[in-house]
Amino acid sequence: MNVLVLGAGQLARMMSLAGTPLNLVTLAYDVGSDSIIDPVSFAKSEMGLKQAIAWADSITAEFEHIPHNVLEVCEQSKKFYPGSRAIQVGGDRAKEKALLDNAEVKSAPYAIVTEKQHFLDALASFGRPMVVKTCQAGYDGKGQWRVKEGDDIEKIWSEMAEFLARGTDTKPHAILAEKMIRFDREVSIIGVRSKSGEVSIYPLTENQHTNGVLTLSIAGKEKATIQTQAENAFTKIANALDYVGVLAVEFFDVQGELLVNEIAPRVHNSGHWTQQGCHVSQFENHMRAIAGLPLGSTKLLRKTAMINVLGEAAIPVEVLTVSDVTSHWYGKAAKPGRKMGHINVSADTLHELGEKLALLAEVLPEEIYPGVLSTAKSLILN
Ligand code: ATP
Ligand code: MG
Repeated sequence: MNVLVLGAGQLARMMSLAGTPLNLVTLAYDVGSDSIIDPVSFAKSEMGLKQAIAWADSITAEFEHIPHNVLEVCEQSKKFYPGSRAIQVGGDRAKEKALLDNAEVKSAPYAIVTEKQHFLDALASFGRPMVVKTCQAGYDGKGQWRVKEGDDIEKIWSEMAEFLARGTDTKPHAILAEKMIRFDREVSIIGVRSKSGEVSIYPLTENQHTNGVLTLSIAGKEKATIQTQAENAFTKIANALDYVGVLAVEFFDVQGELLVNEIAPRVHNSGHWTQQGCHVSQFENHMRAIAGLPLGSTKLLRKTAMINVLGEAAIPVEVLTVSDVTSHWYGKAAKPGRKMGHINVSADTLHELGEKLALLAEVLPEEIYPGVLSTAKSLILN
């Protein structure tokens, strides 16, 4: 069976690697170069997009910011999962908020801003600091402002006005003003929904971000009540989208109450731990779902942490001397802050996971791998 992934980054690569033992053959569409490539070897295919769409039995996506015309031809093929609606909802914060409201899933209070008065009204009602995000084209914390006490409102508005003016009649731009949530921590849930509507959900993941980018995730430390809350939100969202494939939902945990931050209609960085923490990873389950195969187990086998490798030219090989550690490399050219790879570490208990993270902290300096040592210490103490 042939799978075409829209987007040719690490997520397409890991989908391809997970699909190979299932006899799924994967090619990826690199949007930047408008070409079809093998996402593991990066070898260029002779096929163009049209041919690749005809070649594929199933089409999926690894990111949300796909040109409209590409989404359209994929949709017309009737082989596209989770489909253009889910991708568009995930790529536009205004659509995403509307979906959450309709599905009756709680998220941070917000206002849509398309003119200055909306911005001033939002400031008056949410107070400062206030979070402002572009509805389109944001990722990894980009396209965001924080309006703080003493900030020059005119200057911030002029930057926002510039973004709004770049919209067109067919693709209008909007901005989302959001109340700054004083959360205790950030968590996410990854789950999969099949073509027949069967849902299977992985255990909740606790996520640490540094400068708006995910740096470390841990799975296997959650209480049943919070898992149930997250699963309910997940199921409502997945059903509302008639979703097929893996879907990620990010939350703020405010004293045990979960508010959705955002959704991602795809496999997600905070689910990379499933490669070693579960029998069937998020990548394999996504491939199974879109190929119409039975879903695999999402049960946690071992407590697992994932450490992102950002901007580094290689993963220190010493990490592999620690038992139950696996490294995953994406084969991309190094750039400051770029997601280059990740490290998974598993253990039977949280205490043991802390000990292994402490060993990893000896080879992973705090400036480059923030949170490894502090997480090790807190797991060992608990
Ligand atoms: P990514 O694609 O990496 O998830 P993103 O660019 O889509 O990031 P968000 O997830 O919306 O952006 O925001 C990035 C981070 O900024 C969040 O993980 C959170 O730490 C912080 N943040 C966003 N919105 C709020 C809010 N309303 N209150 C407090 N913090 C927020
Ligand atoms: Mg996010």
